[in-house]
Amino acid sequence: MNEYRTRLEAARRVMDAQGVDALCLSVGSDLPYLTGYRAMPLERVTMLIVPREGSAHLVVPGLEAPRVSVPDNAFEVVGWAELDDPIATIDGYLGEAETVAIGDETWARFVLELQHAGPSRSYVGASDLMAELRMVKSPAEIDALRRAARTVDTVVDEMADVRFSGRTERSISRELIERTTSLGHDTMDFWIVASGPNGASPHHEPGDRVIERGDAVVVDFGGTQDGYCSDTTRMFVVGEAPYGFDAAYDVLREAQACAVDAVRPGVTAGSIDSVARDMITEAGYGDLFIHRLGHGIGMDTHEHPYIIEGNGQVLEAGMAFSIEPGIYSPGEWGMRIEDIVVVTPQGVERLNTSDRAYRVVD
Ligand code: ZN
Ligand code: ZN
Ligand code: ZN
Repeated sequence: MNEYRTRLEAARRVMDAQGVDALCLSVGSDLPYLTGYRAMPLERVTMLIVPREGSAHLVVPGLEAPRVSVPDNAFEVVGWAELDDPIATIDGYLGEAETVAIGDETWARFVLELQHAGPSRSYVGASDLMAELRMVKSPAEIDALRRAARTVDTVVDEMADVRFSGRTERSISRELIERTTSLGHDTMDFWIVASGPNGASPHHEPGDRVIERGDAVVVDFGGTQDGYCSDTTRMFVVGEAPYGFDAAYDVLREAQACAVDAVRPGVTAGSIDSVARDMITEAGYGDLFIHRLGHGIGMDTHEHPYIIEGNGQVLEAGMAFSIEPGIYSPGEWGMRIEDIVVVTPQGVERLNTSDRAYRVVD
């Protein structure tokens, strides 16, 4: 339970280093990261105000106040009644603060009202500040990610025994959702089933296409379990792989494995992207690998650090992210292999451990 006090103290240290006088967080995952409370995205404003010194206040609509529990007395809850002016209350807690960092997902409406209430302040985005806190996971957070990964790995194994041909993508995706939630996920955030030529669109939305023999099917899905996200991609081939698929798959698998093996403290996020990209490029598929290698993961599916060319972010033990190279041949097929990994003091731990060979299904 001390975790939230520790996190607030860490936030204040980063505020100090970045010259931020007060931090304001509303909807999104930054707020539950610091308080354990997730605000509903409503027209009634919720705002945590953390000054560099003195107590933090969580201003919430009065009717939501019963849902807030305060771990370790880390902050004070201030409920506002229907006829109150919550912006004035928030402005009051900001007091003399000159530089105010605002959470990325705060509704523009509330930001504009705050700017109007305190026009002399300067408002900056809180993304750098919060990224620095959230990027390095605690052992408890890594454990939650591990459990979420285990669930989707089990579903992947189950899907290997499922019939694909003659069914629509949508029907497979419904089955994915059902199996994953029944194994312990609280929410499902995405459920990509992209068959045949649809596989060439990395974020294809499952539709009415009927899966047939000879299709390669990209299955990429994830959700949350105890507040932490899962995200994995495995390939399924119905009967026989399409023309040209096997040669590319060998390259992809090797590139994914080498990128994972390259993960360790002290190297940059960008260098990991290069490991996979160089191998795929040398094999002649460089133009068909059309996205970054991966993204950080935690309370959000996509968060810092981003594993992208040129990112000089140095990896540290405790960072968690995906390694998901893909090769997409327009009009024919697509392929992607995705694991979540965690940087350890010695190197790397893969949280997803299901077989990376493609599964041949009926
Ligand atoms: Zn994606
Ligand atoms: Zn994914
Ligand atoms: Zn991903």
